Amino acid sequence: MAANVSPRNAPRPLDVEAVRRDFPILATTVHGRPLTYLDSAASSQRARPVLEAVEHYERHSHANVHRGVHALSQAATAAFEGARERVRRFINAVSVKEVIFVRGTTEGINLVAQSYARPRLRPGDEILITALEHHANIVPWQMVCEQTGAHLRVAPINRRGEVPFDEFQRQLSPRTRLAAFAHISNALGTVLPVKRMIEAARAQGAVVLIDGAQAVPHARVDVRALGADFYTFSGHKMYAPTGIGVLYGREELLAAMPPWQGGGDMILTVSFEKTTYNELPAKFEAGTPNISGAVGLAAAMDYLEGLGIEAVAAHEQHLLELATVELGRMPQIELVGTAAHKAAVLSFTMKGVHAHDLGTILDADGVAVRTGHHCAMPVMTFFGLPATARASFACYNTEEDVARLVRALERAREVFG
Ligand code: PMP
Repeated sequence: MAANVSPRNAPRPLDVEAVRRDFPILATTVHGRPLTYLDSAASSQRARPVLEAVEHYERHSHANVHRGVHALSQAATAAFEGARERVRRFINAVSVKEVIFVRGTTEGINLVAQSYARPRLRPGDEILITALEHHANIVPWQMVCEQTGAHLRVAPINRRGEVPFDEFQRQLSPRTRLAAFAHISNALGTVLPVKRMIEAARAQGAVVLIDGAQAVPHARVDVRALGADFYTFSGHKMYAPTGIGVLYGREELLAAMPPWQGGGDMILTVSFEKTTYNELPAKFEAGTPNISGAVGLAAAMDYLEGLGIEAVAAHEQHLLELATVELGRMPQIELVGTAAHKAAVLSFTMKGVHAHDLGTILDADGVAVRTGHHCAMPVMTFFGLPATARASFACYNTEEDVARLVRALERAREVFG
């Protein structure tokens, strides 16, 4: 039984030691030190129930999905389509037709760019993003702009790393055909006021895509309550395997979009004269899908809801606040991203030390942080930095992890001092 399993929404604080026992990899030692894993924003670790669900599927139920009449194919199809229903419930979509399995957030955004935006946009149309986006939510739109003659607009951020709502609104106009922005920034931790932003964009007639890669592990996401047209995320940031993610789209929009990739499963009939396409969601899932990944994703959703997403979020918020205070006391450390609303991510620099050198020193102490531009080069340019170090928190992190980070930073200061 996984730790902390409780009825949905039970306001029970997280038993973090029990949670840690659910993540076997946390027992790893690195350079002879216990692992302090503070890189979950890049990829989280997998919970035992996720590993077990994947293994159980692979050992007992694997065959190709959808086409087989034999028992294993039917078992695999049931597992795969059961996972889709699990996702539907997790994000509160109306129908499983609105849940498209993709490789991850990157693929979800590219699918919308190429299948929704490319056929519709004309010269003079605009796509609005913000200045804190991950490259995955910049480059696909730049490609569409090149392909269609549309123009990319960027809502600015302030020195705290927030997207001021009035600035965002000022960039909107009836020319805005599509707005795409992060729910939570991976580089800065900023939580965007997505509901207000969605309402404002839709009021101008724009279709809205939310990059939820950093949000689904830390916040309850209800796509209907948000009013998003598209919402996309990756399994591997929410305790599920890599290579599986979700694109949610309102059925009406998905139904009107052409397929993105052609191949098996996305067709009804094929002849050399004419091919007819399958219904949703199969229309967007050409080829054999990542079946065990979908099974793992469903198990991760069970796990996260078993812990209670609110309890996880409260725990991570406590660690973020603790780390913010502790690092804020260190004179050589500068925090990058000080938004009023943040989640799970602490970016920082150490005076006179390149982030990569800092990361190497921390690694020697077993402390895993990410260093670099975090696939958000425009954010780094805005702050005039080549890179930052980033500590990010998940359900299994502890106050001791924060203390180890602080001790490792103090040692780094002595080394570089
Ligand atoms: N958007 C954000 C905000 C992210 O943090 C990431 C992953 N770092 C992505 C998009 C891309 O996700 P993936 O690599 O899983 O496709």
